Amino acid sequence: MRDVQRDLLARELEARCRGKLRRDEPLGKHTTFGLGGAGDLFFAPADLDDLSRAVPLIKDAGLPIFPLGGGTNTLVRDGGFRGMVISLTAGARQIDIGDDEVIAQAGASTQRVARQCQRAGKTGLEFGCGIPGSIGGAIRGNAGAWGGETLDHLTGLRGIDLKTGEEISLAQSDIAFGYRHADLPADLLIVEAGFRVREGDPQVIAATMDRMLAERKHAQPLSNRSSGCIFKNPPGHSAGALIDSAGCKGMAVGAVEVSDIHANFMVNLGGHCADDVLALIARVRDRVFRVHNIELEAEVRIVGDP
Ligand SMILES: Cc1cc2nc3c(=O)[nH]c(=O)nc-3n(C[C@H](O)[C@H](O)[C@H](O)COP(=O)(O)OP(=O)(O)OC[C@H]3O[C@@H](n4cnc5c(N)ncnc54)[C@H](O)[C@@H]3O)c2cc1C
Repeated sequence: MRDVQRDLLARELEARCRGKLRRDEPLGKHTTFGLGGAGDLFFAPADLDDLSRAVPLIKDAGLPIFPLGGGTNTLVRDGGFRGMVISLTAGARQIDIGDDEVIAQAGASTQRVARQCQRAGKTGLEFGCGIPGSIGGAIRGNAGAWGGETLDHLTGLRGIDLKTGEEISLAQSDIAFGYRHADLPADLLIVEAGFRVREGDPQVIAATMDRMLAERKHAQPLSNRSSGCIFKNPPGHSAGALIDSAGCKGMAVGAVEVSDIHANFMVNLGGHCADDVLALIARVRDRVFRVHNIELEAEVRIVGDP
């Protein structure tokens, strides 16, 4: 039954929308880990009008939907995703900088938003200069660095509930959020968001960003494929320090290894198997629990079928 709905949806989207539609798309191509299975359907609307045309079709098909941003915090299991992956990174990435607010479409790169703010002399979002991925993903996971967090600066967002087709507008005060967490409706596709900024000196902001980027280059294995930090920091602890002191650096399963530069990063040295990452996650978690009696919680989003 689901195959019939999927084929019907694919044909309707091809007939009525201008965006890119792919069947059985390998999702490793769209994640920084570069691993895992395929999505039954992968749809990237051409722009927000195209998305509006697609929403009623998507809603009526009733398939599982996964919004994918830059894929920098996502691990797709080897069985792939039985449903539709929707990506706004090609068709919704406009950034408008106002006096005290920046409006960014959800597919815009977080790093580009930070850089454009710097050029325009707007301060507040420089912590995002080294965070890869999209604004949609940054909001969903309340991405942060150097003490700054995405939701702290959010004024509000617009999105669509893909199950009902309803438009949703939320102010920051409507959203409960915390460390790497934003309490948002499960079927929400974030489309656009606003962020508070203040006047700043472009050169001072640039110098701060240079410092942040240099530190990151030194402390993270940026030339390898990864999804950033695998685990959240447990309250009062650094996950990287716990993993390191439990002796996990260099631990490997297949081509996936605990980085010797930053112990909370797992790097993919050329494998294709998400199961290797999952097995390594289980081993590290087990070792840290045995040594420190602390349970690590995954920060990376794990999706799809085994
Ligand atoms: C080298 C490296 C360094 C990193 N450093 C940091 C760091 O310093 N701080 C930090 O917090 N993170 C960091 N990360 C992790 C990651 O970059 C962030 O979590 C990022 O904000 C994820 O954005 P994304 O678009 O790639 O999300 P994705 O991985 O594409 O998706 C993540 C989640 O967001 C959801 N999502 C994406 N777009 C939308 C949308 N439009 N609507 C609704 N839901 C959506 C997805 O469904 C998924 O649940 C790093 C990653 C790497 C690879």
